[in-house]
Amino acid sequence: MSTFKALLLEKNEQSVTATLKELAVNDLPEGEVLISVAYSTLNYKDGLAVTNRAPVVRQFPLVPGIDLAGIVEESTSAAYQPGDGVILTGWGVGEMYWGGLAQKARVHSDWLVPLPDGLSLQNAMALGTAGFTAMLAVLALEAHDITPDSGEVVVTGAAGGVGSVAIALLAKLGYTVVASTGRVDTATDYLMKLGASRVMGRFTPSKRALEKELWAGAVDTVGGETLAALTRQMVRWGSVAVCGMAGGGDLPATVYPFILRGVNLLGIDSVMSPFITRQIAWQRLTETMTPELLELITERVIGLVEVPAVSQDIMQGQVRGRVVVDVNR
Ligand code: NDP
Repeated sequence: MSTFKALLLEKNEQSVTATLKELAVNDLPEGEVLISVAYSTLNYKDGLAVTNRAPVVRQFPLVPGIDLAGIVEESTSAAYQPGDGVILTGWGVGEMYWGGLAQKARVHSDWLVPLPDGLSLQNAMALGTAGFTAMLAVLALEAHDITPDSGEVVVTGAAGGVGSVAIALLAKLGYTVVASTGRVDTATDYLMKLGASRVMGRFTPSKRALEKELWAGAVDTVGGETLAALTRQMVRWGSVAVCGMAGGGDLPATVYPFILRGVNLLGIDSVMSPFITRQIAWQRLTETMTPELLELITERVIGLVEVPAVSQDIMQGQVRGRVVVDVNR
């Protein structure tokens, strides 16, 4: 097909609109690899972009979608041949460059990761940037010697995308995982099925510099007062993988956990991760996330036309786990 469907973000003087359009292949930006996209997904950042809640998008018009999985249609890169399955996450795609919420994408070959054997295109997007980020967080904790024997690991924003995959991964790897969520009433069953050993509410602010040592490790997707609370409650030499800011971008903490208990904050950046890290992370995801876990984290599969409405849901914290977008639906 020389035309294809795409969600297009356009800016006028008053607002940003997201409309389903029919585009021509010639409209696509330059790149070595033309991809027939099968699935994309909705991450928190896609929600920000599509609802224009934060200035995530740097150029208009733009096809949003920070993730895609599909089949190579044409390639001038020796690394990829027509028919190859590929995954793309990050690199500013869906922010500065046209992204995955379309039936076709033309991209730079350096941005791609070969689809690992044993992972379907749909399940690659059940994971997407959220799953990749969760895996990076687990790799960072492992690199800082946080093992299943170290003690409990807490995951915040537990019922969200990054949180859900982090719980599933850590539990499967033998860690004792505590899920912190604002949805104790509605998400406990789900979080326990993912492998949490128990579920607790959200963290609360405190004026104290140090509190009882509770957590050997933490995966934080919330930031703000939540991350500050974690620093106060980490055990000596404990590590927090700092992933997100769903609850705020500030960090109202003190230096005492770091200088008196040797606590580590491990920054997680999925967008600019190098190729080798991506390959390792996607291989580990493929080995660790069973089909049952992938099905459990996939809250729904939607079509392109539903993306604007579901983007509002994700901004209101109403999405549990992951949303996959079937761009051909
Ligand atoms: P989701 O929207 O799927 O999940 C976010 C979760 O955070 C919600 O489900 C909710 O969990 C919790 N939450 C939301 N608002 C608040 C609040 N005000 N206070 C406390 N908790 C809150 O988003 P993702 O999982 O996709 O992303 C999570 C964060 O990680 C985002 O900030 C995102 O930008 C960031 N991120 C960073 C990446 C990186 O490279 N560093 C890559 C991917 C994401 P619950 O209902 O369980 O409390």
